Amino acid sequence: APEAGTQRMRDVINKNITEEDVIQSCSVAFSEGWSGMKMYFMIGLPTETDEDVKGIAELGRKVRELGQKEFRKSVRVTCSASYFVPKPHTPFQWCRQEEVEQVKRKQRMLKELGRRYRLDVKVHHAETSLLEGIISRGDRNLCKVIERAWRMGCRFDGWTDHFDFDKWMKAFEVEGVDIQPYLKEFPVKEFDKPGAPLVQLPWDHIDTLVKREFNAREYIKGIKAKISPPCELPVKIINGRPTAIAPSSEEFERVASQPLLCYACGMECDLELSRKHLERAVALHKEVRSYEDRISAIKEEGIDRPLVQLTSSVEADSERRAEATLNRYRAVFEKGERIKYLSHLDLTRQLPRAFRRAKITLGYSQGFHPMPLIQYGPALGVGVVGEREMIDFDSPDLLEEAEFLDRINSRMPEGLRFISLAKLPAGSPSLIKVINRAEYSLPLGAPEIRTALSRIRNEREGLSGLEDEEIQARLADEFLRRESWVIERVRKDKRQRVDVRRYTLGLGLSEDRASLRIVTEISPSGGVKPVEVVAAIYGLGGDDTVSLSSRVRRIRLYRDEAADPASLTGHTGDAGGASEHASLAARSLAGD
Ligand code: SF4
Repeated sequence: APEAGTQRMRDVINKNITEEDVIQSCSVAFSEGWSGMKMYFMIGLPTETDEDVKGIAELGRKVRELGQKEFRKSVRVTCSASYFVPKPHTPFQWCRQEEVEQVKRKQRMLKELGRRYRLDVKVHHAETSLLEGIISRGDRNLCKVIERAWRMGCRFDGWTDHFDFDKWMKAFEVEGVDIQPYLKEFPVKEFDKPGAPLVQLPWDHIDTLVKREFNAREYIKGIKAKISPPCELPVKIINGRPTAIAPSSEEFERVASQPLLCYACGMECDLELSRKHLERAVALHKEVRSYEDRISAIKEEGIDRPLVQLTSSVEADSERRAEATLNRYRAVFEKGERIKYLSHLDLTRQLPRAFRRAKITLGYSQGFHPMPLIQYGPALGVGVVGEREMIDFDSPDLLEEAEFLDRINSRMPEGLRFISLAKLPAGSPSLIKVINRAEYSLPLGAPEIRTALSRIRNEREGLSGLEDEEIQARLADEFLRRESWVIERVRKDKRQRVDVRRYTLGLGLSEDRASLRIVTEISPSGGVKPVEVVAAIYGLGGDDTVSLSSRVRRIRLYRDEAADPASLTGHTGDAGGASEHASLAARSLAGD
């Protein structure tokens, strides 16, 4: 993340790296086998000129040429440029935010240069960043605007496909709040004289321990492109620049006894303790092969091992892995209401942590980046409760179900809970190969469905005298009798036609007639979301399907041994519903 394309601009933001540092880091990455490089920059930084924006493309070009000429690689370089947003409690909290039109012009210029230099240029959505800037440095006057925007339907504004800039601007207009004061430069002092007090900012009542005066000093230094090397390290002038010497540097031992740099920012660090940490860091770095060693090793032996790897841990890890005999387990867990908005990706981070905290050892893959051996079932949609989700995992431990549940559940966050554990025989097929069905439930009392039902009752003849349940059963029956039902799925401006009927294997009312049960096929060729089926049956629009998604529950995942779609398609929604029908054809998985 060089953040800026020219040295002057990097000095303004006190990035404390030079172009040489960037080139050296890239050459390490190229030498380690990487051929794609993604670099992060910002546009709209304080004092930025067009030359600084051109510098982004120039740096990208140099990196691409480095890969091609020095390492003979077909290199792909991506320059990702976000739109600078001044943030409270930082030295740039007083800066103005550059106008959207200026930033868009610079984005176009960068894209044009990217085409010329064969770089992949990515830029951020300018209007989203503008709103972020207004709210970042906002005061309590914005409360009413945020509430108004919410009442006007603004939701999930971090997702560009949901973000509606015009609606937000309308909310500002309705509440009579001008956006310009939040975007302009804020005065630093009450009046322009030495010793004048600082102007009170809306967030100054929040104490981050860093003094406002320190931020003001850093702001003035930044605008003048004067750098402040990182604190808690000794400093040396190198090539005319004050440079903090890190424990990884060969210079370190020569300057180790010097006082450590401190700006008295307000954090009041214990510099004696900092010195002890540095001594420990030096000892660790002595174990790591140097950049020069690595380059000469590559020339002699070819690329074999990563540069930064502690020799002691490499040996210990490989010995441990070679010795361990792994057992495979299948565990069932619940992802409840409280945590249903946790994404699948976050879940894959959460579970290994819970295992570690519960001191249950996981098996790890081999190679440069060992990963915990956990296989996850089909991803659950964000906002959907999962009653019986599944994972397979490998562990050298011999685990008993009761003890496993006790240990892991005491370490799980609220809303996530393991239900069962079974040890799998050697050679068992993986979870993803075993599961081919998912069963969902959706409450028929949901307001979206009730509104749709009364509309259907009014629109269609012959329904006026019928009970709600009878109409629901008829609608399900009509859907199942169709051979296909194609909908248009829109995702990130891409439109795709999907036959929702093809993937719907069962549909009917639950035994208590309070919910709709849907059985869908899980296959490598695709699938369907339960809300898409419901939207098709009840003719629901976009907003209704979004809110309805958070009422869906995935009851279970299972395997239908017959895997014969026809075995469920004839179902007409009798009492007992699709789940009963499905369960006849299904073999429960271990622990289910
Ligand atoms: S107090 Fe701590 S954080 Fe602040 S400048 Fe000194 S060493 Fe750095």
